Amino acid sequence: MDLAAAQQVLKTTFGYDEFRPGQRAVIEQVLAGENTLAIMPTGGGKSLCYQIPALLFRGLTVVVSPLISLMKDQVDALNDNGIAATFINSALDQQEINQRLQELRAGDYTLLYVAPERLDSDYFLRALGQLPIELLAIDEAHCISQWGHDFRPSYLALSTAIEQLPTHPQVLALTATATEQVATDIRQLLNIAADNEVNTGFARDNLNLAVVKDQDTDRYILDYLKANQGEAGIIYASTRKEVMRLTALLQKRAIKAAPYHAGLDPDVRRQNQEDFLYDRVDVMVATNAFGMGIDKSNVRFVIHAQVPGTLEAYYQEAGRAGRDGLSSEAILIFRPADIQLQHYFIDESEMDDEHRHQAYKKLQAVTRYANTQGCLQQFILKYFGEDSEPCGRCSNCTDQREEKDITTATQQVLSCVVRLHSRFGKGVVAQVLTGANNQRIRDNHLSELSTYGLMAGQRQKTVSDLIDFLTAAGYLQSVGGQFPTLTVTASGVGVLKGETQVYRKTAQTVKQAAPENSAL
Ligand code: ADP
Ligand code: ZN
Repeated sequence: MDLAAAQQVLKTTFGYDEFRPGQRAVIEQVLAGENTLAIMPTGGGKSLCYQIPALLFRGLTVVVSPLISLMKDQVDALNDNGIAATFINSALDQQEINQRLQELRAGDYTLLYVAPERLDSDYFLRALGQLPIELLAIDEAHCISQWGHDFRPSYLALSTAIEQLPTHPQVLALTATATEQVATDIRQLLNIAADNEVNTGFARDNLNLAVVKDQDTDRYILDYLKANQGEAGIIYASTRKEVMRLTALLQKRAIKAAPYHAGLDPDVRRQNQEDFLYDRVDVMVATNAFGMGIDKSNVRFVIHAQVPGTLEAYYQEAGRAGRDGLSSEAILIFRPADIQLQHYFIDESEMDDEHRHQAYKKLQAVTRYANTQGCLQQFILKYFGEDSEPCGRCSNCTDQREEKDITTATQQVLSCVVRLHSRFGKGVVAQVLTGANNQRIRDNHLSELSTYGLMAGQRQKTVSDLIDFLTAAGYLQSVGGQFPTLTVTASGVGVLKGETQVYRKTAQTVKQAAPENSAL
């Protein structure tokens, strides 16, 4: 089987002239019988990577996908295209399932979509074993990795399930988010050779990333929506309560908005999702329960009213903007209180210590992202292990504010951290520098330090922001999980020695203490 046949199907069945980047390589490899891992950004066109081989293979292609709510729509769309596809998930009763299995055994279908929970059932696994499965496509494959941000135990059952399938189908794993660690994990669990990873990179040239800080969230959102009236967008919040509050706020201003979270009645949820898909409402206000696999191509903006817990989750959610390739915006509204909220979620979660520690570290990366003055896209790509040039489009690349030399203030902060022997976190460092007088300071005799009060007269928040900036810029490092402490990095030492100057774009001047106070 060759690529010409695939090209033909692309044209005749799907009506496209050209493969998108990555599609060709993935399909070529799948047709050559290789287990493959495809890493392509959201909207990159992952579905065709298994749909086209499915149409060329004689046997059945099984697609494992967590998107139960969309399975029917996807299958309907394929059927409309003349492709024999069906699905099996919890929406069907046993009789319907048996009926479909029988048709599948008879070879009536090209594609079968299944929800991962099905794999928890031995009965279902045995039934799968009787089907002529040639290709197993695993969508959202990062869910198989415990290091991913969306681990699902059912996915883990996949790797054993595959081994038990008598037809030994080949595997195509697909994901839009995988750090190097997660990609390695997926490959190991699904027996994919390192050479068989096709990674088109994570860059999304039509996505303009922005971070918004120190602004009133409601005001910002209302202004934004006013300026972008009638455009489709998603606003993400971390809690159901906040989703309902924001929805009410928008509805009161006659903005066509609907809420989506797991606590809503399934019918309401489905209705709201459809209203959004079919442009009856402009703005979907949602928790992270909304969106995986949403194929709405004209989403013009994704605003995070609250920060999510990981950059993986952030980029995946943000990536739902602009699937049509047109210019779109992904805006993160950053407030330290929302980081605290995520911190609390981790505290309260039932993760084991190792995963909890990882989760805290991932959250720290979100804070660094929000505080970097470097290119935001570059930051995210780097996080996923990809080197790139500044994008020229993000809110940092286009930041016109003037850079100020903040070397002296930086030295003050860093020397305070050194004096505290890296035993304390951001809060205490800011308190010592601003000369706060509280129990903790007294108990630890911190007012006796030479750096105490070095930045007296400044607000603690200002100093705290400066510390965040210095951490994002790599002069400080936040170490540890639940109660991280600050240490000075090697490049920070360079600043202390006077070898490096530090610049910051800032609206307000960072006031420097009088030189005679200096402990340097
Ligand atoms: P992903 O699963 O990677 O997020 P999809 O498979 O849903 O992306 O594809 C996103 C959109 O791009 C869909 O509307 C799809 O029809 C379209 N698409 C996919 N491949 C091509 C192509 N080669 N040319 C044009 N459009 C494409
Ligand atoms: Zn940029």
